[in-house]
Amino acid sequence: MNSFENMTLNSVYKQGEKLLKEADIPDADFDSLYLLEHFFGADRTALILHGDKTADESLCERFFSAVEERKTGKPLQYIVGKWNFMGYDFYVGEGVLIPRDDTEIVVEAALDFLKGIKNPRVIDLCSGSGAIAVSIAKIFPDSDVVALEYSDLAVEYLKKNIELNGADNVKVFKGDVTKCYGDFSDESFDLVISNPPYIESDEIDTLQPELQFEPRMALDGGKDGLYFYRIISEKWSCKVKKGGMIAFEVGEEQFEPVAELVKSHGFENVTYRLDLQGYKRTVAGVRTISN
Ligand code: GLN
Repeated sequence: MNSFENMTLNSVYKQGEKLLKEADIPDADFDSLYLLEHFFGADRTALILHGDKTADESLCERFFSAVEERKTGKPLQYIVGKWNFMGYDFYVGEGVLIPRDDTEIVVEAALDFLKGIKNPRVIDLCSGSGAIAVSIAKIFPDSDVVALEYSDLAVEYLKKNIELNGADNVKVFKGDVTKCYGDFSDESFDLVISNPPYIESDEIDTLQPELQFEPRMALDGGKDGLYFYRIISEKWSCKVKKGGMIAFEVGEEQFEPVAELVKSHGFENVTYRLDLQGYKRTVAGVRTISN
């Protein structure tokens, strides 16, 4: 006899929560409910209305094997394989950074800037899953967006996400951000945007277990975390049109140094936006000089 016989939806959810709690997974309640919705299509309302219905056994099997995976610390996003960002779905999995809520803030700053520009040309450096590039391209169908990414695995996700969202105005460029700037003309972009790796190398191993499943390459910002901001400011600033913008997501204590960097490369009106915890999460500046 299968152990999932005659389990109700409610007992599946409760059991999932219990197993995750016992494994010290934070937000066990949220995760169990999320997996329930993913496998059974049942949200909290469905649970209230139909929680006493018998749950399909084969779905139970899939649900509990997902719970087992989650117990190892594997992020929920990788287990379900898709995550929402700016209202769009993105395929994610090991090898690509999971799109974060924080990153929506830098996209919003970009959107406000691009509103006034006809046929904007944008490049997203270290594009990863393409969350930034695809959202901008969808919101501005008349934009031309380049998504630059180095990792083979991430490029595969990027391509799939462009297709999933029908974002035909995104072109993938596979290249190393520290080397391939010569492939782009000077002053050819209205916006250079990036969420580069920005965690200090030594800090990564001390962070939450979920992060250890993510590609180190997408997180490691060098000894002081600022390596990519330096390279991008130095090598890519000249690609921004006069009057165009550079916009970065930054780590918790990085606004000041990154603001200084962009100012020293010809950007003014440098502004930030706060994340939900009150950290300055973005740096955006307008280029006031010409090459
Ligand atoms: N925001 C991510 C984190 O702190 C880091 C992303 C990045 O390095 N760009 O988990």
